[in-house]
Amino acid sequence: MAGESFGEAIAKLTKLLSEKAELGDVATLKISQLTAELEAAGAKRCVPEERIKTGFITFRNEKFLRNPDLYADLAKGQSPKFMVFACSDSRVCPSHILDFQPGEAFMVRNIANMVPPYDKTKYSGAGAAIEYAVLHLKVENIVVIGHSCCGGIKGLMSIPDDGTTARQVSNILTTSRISLEHP
Ligand SMILES: [Zn+2]
Repeated sequence: MAGESFGEAIAKLTKLLSEKAELGDVATLKISQLTAELEAAGAKRCVPEERIKTGFITFRNEKFLRNPDLYADLAKGQSPKFMVFACSDSRVCPSHILDFQPGEAFMVRNIANMVPPYDKTKYSGAGAAIEYAVLHLKVENIVVIGHSCCGGIKGLMSIPDDGTTARQVSNILTTSRISLEHP
């Protein structure tokens, strides 16, 4: 009941069961179901700090400490063979899907794996990353990875043609859609 505290709810249930013992079996079944539901909910609950901590400890124990030569080399510098543009979507991490190891791929991730047109002032982050990868790291391959069910592409293709979109739409998206429609 709204406004009822946990203690009051338990007291009410206890009183009811003490007065109507015949409800015991039904109550036991329902309490078991509720307990299972609460246990499942508790198992799904993520404590961010703990997740980050256990993730790092797993990396340290399973990868870093088991590959000392690799990480000693990487501490001196990087010479990746790939530059990768990938979507920010949490389901499509390139390292996971393509099994890139540390030092193999220099990455830029953004919504819908966009590679904006060259411009020294706008979208300069992507331009700087390409410049650094090509001129300094000497990457040999630039890979743009798209994926199915991309929310970014879906949103991009739903922007009205007449520019009446309620939200501010950046030129990067408009330019990208022109590229998609007229490759
Ligand atoms: Zn996506």
